[in-house]
Amino acid sequence: MSLAEITARIRKAEAAAGRPEGATRLIAVSKVQPADRVEAVLQQGHRLFGENRVQEAQERWPAFQERFDGVELHLLGPLQTNKVKPAFDMFDAIHSLDREKLARKLAELAQAEGRCPALFVQVNTGEEPQKAGVLPEAVDAFVGLCRMLDLPLAGLMCIPPVEEEPMLHFALLRKMAERNGLSGLSMGMSADFEKAVAMGATHVRVGSAIFGARDYGAAG
Ligand SMILES: *Cc1c(COP(=O)(O)O)cnc(C)c1O
Repeated sequence: MSLAEITARIRKAEAAAGRPEGATRLIAVSKVQPADRVEAVLQQGHRLFGENRVQEAQERWPAFQERFDGVELHLLGPLQTNKVKPAFDMFDAIHSLDREKLARKLAELAQAEGRCPALFVQVNTGEEPQKAGVLPEAVDAFVGLCRMLDLPLAGLMCIPPVEEEPMLHFALLRKMAERNGLSGLSMGMSADFEKAVAMGATHVRVGSAIFGARDYGAAG
């Protein structure tokens, strides 16, 4: 699918849901993709990209950012505490805030630097043991902690279990965001972004539908 096609489908899903045009932002997830595919999307004028790993982003983006103005980078993958500083410096938003230690570390940096990336709290809506994210029953308290630390919370993020109907998870995430007064909803990927738009996503994270399948073998 082309970038234009994905964008058209998002606009259509917004209209169908009675949402304003442009209410959903498209994060092009460029992790593991070859540079020429990423460059093609930059050439088409797209500027909002998501990466999963700090190191991969560091290797790739500074060179692109010298050639393309206005690039906005979001970190989508798990953030180790020892990578917080480079992530803080490089990303405009972090979608994987999921534990107290990370929140405290981010707050320290925010105090020291007088700024902070926009933050999404990742919620493990499916309560999957292998998956990152705050458990649903702990979300309200965790949001409270982040607010106590003066962190700029943009909203909530989830990755639904692959085997389950994503709508249920999107609805749950939305309910949790609403009751916590959070407007941002980072949800929806290649397979289900239109459903996420229907449920109120403000950010959809679409990788393979834009760039093609990821070849982890070639990436090493
Ligand atoms: C890889 C990834 C995506 C994009 O997945 P696709 O299925 O390729 O669209 C979105 N969000 C996160 C957190 C990811 O790791």
